[in-house]
Amino acid sequence: MGRAAAAPLSVASVAGAKRPRRLRRNAALRSLVRETRLSPAAMIAPIFVISGRDRREPIASMPGHARLSPDLAALHARELASRGIGGVLLFGIPDEKEPLGRGASDPEGPVPTALRRIRDAGAQMVLAADVCLCEYTSHGHCGVLDGREIDNDATLPLLADAAVAYADAGADIVAPSAMMDGQVAALRAGLDTAGHSQTAIMAYSSKHSSALYGPFREAAGSTPSFGDRKSYQMDIANGREALHEMERDVAEGADILMVKPALTSLDILARARDTFNVPLAAYQVSGEMAMIEAAAARGWIDRKQAALECSTAIARAGADVIITYLAADLAHWLTEG
Ligand SMILES: [Zn+2]
Repeated sequence: MGRAAAAPLSVASVAGAKRPRRLRRNAALRSLVRETRLSPAAMIAPIFVISGRDRREPIASMPGHARLSPDLAALHARELASRGIGGVLLFGIPDEKEPLGRGASDPEGPVPTALRRIRDAGAQMVLAADVCLCEYTSHGHCGVLDGREIDNDATLPLLADAAVAYADAGADIVAPSAMMDGQVAALRAGLDTAGHSQTAIMAYSSKHSSALYGPFREAAGSTPSFGDRKSYQMDIANGREALHEMERDVAEGADILMVKPALTSLDILARARDTFNVPLAAYQVSGEMAMIEAAAARGWIDRKQAALECSTAIARAGADVIITYLAADLAHWLTEG
């Protein structure tokens, strides 16, 4: 004797009138109700700048990217602007490093020179400059040393000097990334004193200590010669502390708050979106790109779809602005398919 067959499940009794798949039936419907749309105008492309002319040094761990002399950086920026990309974020690699990283504020250094060249080239885009000492210090730390400790307060005026040098050279935005306490206030005071009250500050507010910065350190030659950055960058385990850093930065005068790495900070972006009414930026860092590139090179994932997915998730979590090495590719895919 077999058991009686169960009565067929009535979909209507479970789903009732609610059938979310109705709006997924075809591409037109999906497009109509899409909640998050990427735009090249809300993207910033990082550029690594070196001294000299007509110099291009490929970066092995960042396929398709190179360190560029200011003249080539200007050509590159103009090309990015022509693709509709909203801005560039400049990092400088000086010829010589020393313990105080004073090269960061050299008006003839790679970043101020590139800023002037990009302005002269007429690129219609936002020019942002990273403000830190790690590319300029002989020890590779983001601040100056007192023995083997990072001296927070002695670092602040050096960061402010660098920000003023970049504002002098035409930066619209300066972006302090050293994770020193009080760095936003120090930059704001320095900029205002120098007559740059209109220069905006995009604060690296929530910057976790991360293995995902590996390729960047090769690109910028900024691997610390001893120890690590855990005494100033945040513990990856901490989210409430990230919100606290953001509160502090808003109080100190930050115009834009940034989180980094992006993909490991989606919860922080979402919480920040509910908490702060200033623009939020997320930095899709070199290791995030490297994971996509390396897996795609092996045929393990679809490069384009993975890049679009990750960027869309970053925007969905709350980022208004995405800083990404994939900006040129994303702009191409978004405008030409
Ligand atoms: Zn740094």
